[in-house]
Amino acid sequence: MDLPVGKTRLSIARGDITEQETDAIVNAANSSLMGGGGVDGAIHRAGGPTILEECRQIRAERGRLPTGEAVITTGGNLKTHHVIHTVGPVWHGGTKGEADLLASAYRESLRLAVERGLKSISFPSISTGAYGYPVAPAARVALQTVIDFLNQDDSLAEVVFVLFDPKTTRIYEETLQELMPK
Ligand code: ADP
Repeated sequence: MDLPVGKTRLSIARGDITEQETDAIVNAANSSLMGGGGVDGAIHRAGGPTILEECRQIRAERGRLPTGEAVITTGGNLKTHHVIHTVGPVWHGGTKGEADLLASAYRESLRLAVERGLKSISFPSISTGAYGYPVAPAARVALQTVIDFLNQDDSLAEVVFVLFDPKTTRIYEETLQELMPK
């Protein structure tokens, strides 16, 4: 499923983000930057040790990565050339600024991609696994934030949401339908 937003193609696909060939893929990392489970574990497993080594370097230089911020490494052995590591919020019921922090994670990742001159980027569903953010509200924040960004900045050619399971994929598709201009 896809939608043009300005000059950018925004699409939703089901799949494994580690296999994407976009200029960058986004990792739903944690503040330690030292790897973890879920998509983080999959990216480090498939990408090999250089990504973790670069994360270690970043960690040594600037300490833990705050929620809502993003950093970039190479793609190691992956097909993509860059991994953007961002930290989404842990869900605490929705009253602890989760939506703003989730929006920031998407926005900062997009900003970093544009700053580096990249043209295409793939996102997973940040925070909706181990971090417990319910998928429907997370999808609304994710898609609206990306659409708002693309309406301000037309330098990216392609933004893809690569979703791992059928239920998450369906919810993102339904949400994009709702957000589409009528
Ligand atoms: P978080 O800690 O931010 O919640 P998780 O990695 O636990 O991150 O989960 C985020 C989402 O990523 C979940 O929907 C999970 O199913 C999905 N996911 C896990 N592995 C992959 C993968 N290889 N490609 C794309 N999405 C994945």
